Amino acid sequence: MPLSGSEPVSTLKALQAFQVGQVGRDTVADYLRKGWSLAICCKACERLVEWTPPELARRFGDGSQVRVSALVERLACAGDEGCGAREIAVFPHLFDGKWPRDA
Ligand SMILES: [Zn+2]
Repeated sequence: MPLSGSEPVSTLKALQAFQVGQVGRDTVADYLRKGWSLAICCKACERLVEWTPPELARRFGDGSQVRVSALVERLACAGDEGCGAREIAVFPHLFDGKWPRDA
């Protein structure tokens, strides 16, 4: 089906427009139940990191009720390749690996 009838939106524009309210009320446990990764993208340098379900479980625990929206406020573009910015956008992303681990 051709895409038509709407203006193309650049990835960067969508990224810059991100607001934490878009994330909603999902918790880490919700992401794990749905088999979603958390895609984390720096607004400043566009570096993209994926926290897969196994990574989320390792960092927070399988039943973590931490809200993803609360996480966003604590994230920064850190590490060797990071630019240090604290303006971070996150998106749910369907994980295509093996999850749950024991299925
Ligand atoms: Zn950055």
